[in-house]
Amino acid sequence: MIHLKSEGGYACVAPVFASTVEEVEGAKQLISIDIDDCCCPICEEDRGALEIYTTMSMRLVHNNTVITQRITTTEAISIAKTLMDYANVLVELAEEFGSEKLVEMD
Ligand SMILES: [Zn+2]
Repeated sequence: MIHLKSEGGYACVAPVFASTVEEVEGAKQLISIDIDDCCCPICEEDRGALEIYTTMSMRLVHNNTVITQRITTTEAISIAKTLMDYANVLVELAEEFGSEKLVEMD
């Protein structure tokens, strides 16, 4: 058993924009990233007064509940970097140690 402690495996972003929660009948479990830099009416309504090409939107969907969080480019880069860095660490560990179980220590 391998004990793993990584400072790079944690990200906490206090977003500029408030999240929204809505109930959507038939919504299934998923994570979506919307690059809504489009001029269609739906994207324009979602962006509101925000400039095009400045933000993106993330959605977590679970059992008809949709949580939407608009993020800035800085926030997106921070989240993406943490996910990439930590995923690469885990891939390297899995390649090195095979199927041994990894346990994160507090
Ligand atoms: Zn659109």
